[in-house]
Amino acid sequence: MTADARAVQTVTGRVRPEALGRTLIHEHVLIGFPGWNLDALAPRFDRGDAMARAVDQMQRLRDLGVGTFVDPCPMDLGRDVEFLAELSQKSELQIVCTTGAYFEAEGITHTFRHLPVEEITAIYIKEIVEGIGDTGIRAGAVKIATGAHHISDYERKLVQAGARAARETGVPLISHTQEGSCGHDQIDLVTGEGVAADRLVVGHSDGVDDHEYHRSLAERGAFVGFDRFGITLILPDEVRVKNVLKLAHAGHTRNILLSHDSIVCWQGRPVPFAARYEDVLAMLPDWRPTSILTKIVPQLRAGGLTEADITTILVDNPRRLFAGA
Ligand SMILES: [Zn+2]
Repeated sequence: MTADARAVQTVTGRVRPEALGRTLIHEHVLIGFPGWNLDALAPRFDRGDAMARAVDQMQRLRDLGVGTFVDPCPMDLGRDVEFLAELSQKSELQIVCTTGAYFEAEGITHTFRHLPVEEITAIYIKEIVEGIGDTGIRAGAVKIATGAHHISDYERKLVQAGARAARETGVPLISHTQEGSCGHDQIDLVTGEGVAADRLVVGHSDGVDDHEYHRSLAERGAFVGFDRFGITLILPDEVRVKNVLKLAHAGHTRNILLSHDSIVCWQGRPVPFAARYEDVLAMLPDWRPTSILTKIVPQLRAGGLTEADITTILVDNPRRLFAGA
């Protein structure tokens, strides 16, 4: 039943945790929000154009010394693991995909609303152990997701299913939170199912300017995701840098993970207020998967982090997340 406990499942096969290298823990290649294909006014999706754009971005990351790109696309947001596998082969960047569905307000809820937790767990385990659909491509982690300030019954069921699948297979959990809330509830649910907190990334914790929240998550052993660098509509990056430095200087460098939650290609229009990808980049110029290495790491160095600290955050922490204790 279990996946190979000492291997990380990428979309092109298993690698040792030590082979991950510099890892971006939460980025997306391709997203399509539910209903994107109903929007006849949206730009037409061209797979070839999308692949070319994605290969270009992955090669830029390789040039910056990135070894692995984790794409925790929920199964209901246009996840396309064959696209990821082709991209990984073309770009020679390792990519990890996930099983698990999105939070209630923005996911596709009809089927899982009616399935019991045991069956959802079995579906997640199938995607980790056997593969997604009939592709043979295995998920290497579980995505869990909750809404703002309250976990609905639907979300609680899916988080429990995700934790049970992680417990059975040994893969880690990567979460979505809204507005920097419910991280402790996620830890409660995950540990309640017998999974150690250090197998969980509380994602998007940088959505709130609250050092006490970040420190309290780290004190429980979870990884704290500062994983929306560049999304300055939520908070300026200077605030994220300040909070990363505070957490590191409080002794929790080993709990920090960095990423952008960038989206390289969209199916349909990217967000309701922007018809084209170029419009989004014009609004959020640093929301691209290269910004941490080109712009943020120098700021962290200037704030007092050593090269060893940077390696801990970019290399050792992802390796420990995937390898387990
Ligand atoms: Zn995301």
